[in-house]
Amino acid sequence: MTSTLPNAGTDWPTLKARMADYATGDVAWRDGKTAVYVFNAGPEVEQVQKEAYALFMSENGLGPAAFPSLKRMEDEVVSFGLSLLHGPEGASGAITSGGTDSITMAMKAARDYARKEKGVTGPLNIVLPRSAHPAFDKAASVMEIEVRRTPIIGFLADPVAMAAACDASTMMIVGSAPSFPYGLIDPIEALSDLALARGLWLHVDACVGGYIAPFVRMNGEDIAPFDFEVPGVRSMSADLHKYGYCAKGASTVLFRDAALQKFMIFDFRDWPGGRMITPTLAGTRPGGAISAAWAVMNFLGVAGYREKQGQVTAARAKIAAGAEALGFKVLGQPKLGILAFNHPEADSVAVWSKLRERGWFTSLATEPKSLHLMLSPFHLQVADTYLTDLAWALGEVRGVATQGADEVRYS
Ligand SMILES: *Cc1c(COP(=O)(O)O)cnc(C)c1O
Repeated sequence: MTSTLPNAGTDWPTLKARMADYATGDVAWRDGKTAVYVFNAGPEVEQVQKEAYALFMSENGLGPAAFPSLKRMEDEVVSFGLSLLHGPEGASGAITSGGTDSITMAMKAARDYARKEKGVTGPLNIVLPRSAHPAFDKAASVMEIEVRRTPIIGFLADPVAMAAACDASTMMIVGSAPSFPYGLIDPIEALSDLALARGLWLHVDACVGGYIAPFVRMNGEDIAPFDFEVPGVRSMSADLHKYGYCAKGASTVLFRDAALQKFMIFDFRDWPGGRMITPTLAGTRPGGAISAAWAVMNFLGVAGYREKQGQVTAARAKIAAGAEALGFKVLGQPKLGILAFNHPEADSVAVWSKLRERGWFTSLATEPKSLHLMLSPFHLQVADTYLTDLAWALGEVRGVATQGADEVRYS
């Protein structure tokens, strides 16, 4: 412990300057050289996020009766999500604090459904493709549910392997749209066939795709059905704070039917504080995350999202083509904002380290070892610079001995 709370307060301008000073060590994401953690939709969207967040930052989404404004904004945002993702009549959902929260709560709903509706007693399991997000494992560890990760083929979920892993205690199967490591959409229709044939709960994790894929499709890309349009999909997670360009702390968890969402809600009264109903994992729910999401979505509209997502896919296509021209190989055929690629004659981690010397803060995938980019609209403006630096980095490290991805990534 090196700091204690100062006895005397400090004036705000001084603190503000000190915070700016703390931030000098952070990645300079606004210049476009960061392709992980942050989604940069430009200064206009950032301003809307900030001002809309500040307007409701003290209000609490836990109290819909006190703050009908937040309830209304949440309902509208959920409706926007459901309409983009083919939610049928009777579909419902909630805003959560993020993808992990959405996934955890979908799993809680599926678990309570398995217990109460299907009468499954004893241990439960979920079946995931190897490429699914660790949020499922975290939630499973909290709920003491067994996780069965199944091998992938062509970087995609293998419905045959998943079918073989399912049994009477399987409470959920999962497909990603897209997976984080590869940016590829799993064969959701085949997983739906499996779910319908075996009476399984299919969750589609569209955390990083839910608010980009519909617009990329509107822009003319051929994207196979992956949402509630597919009949076996019972729940979805879709993050507003990723390609929805909303302020952080906002995701949506969506259900085919409000009756399924009922299994998510926690309703408790056996304490001296009276009845407490919490729709998601949080108790207190930050009003600012809800109001910022509402404002950004309305600010962009379909036209704004189509434009931003068109910039993302143009950046991805440009970088993929440029990388391939240098001899890199892109894993699968990504159609959204994530891509992973590697070079037969260069160690991806060594290339990554060189790029970091030039200010690029990006990610890595491990199976196989690959460079990994999660692109924002702003990257279209720096794609040429990236490719120049990639060519330089490749020249520097071609043939250099390999390094482990996990050792360098967090250093
Ligand atoms: C980001 C992500 C998550 C987790 O979302 P958080 O908001 O980081 O909790 C889950 N699944 C996928 C595919 C993701 O990309």
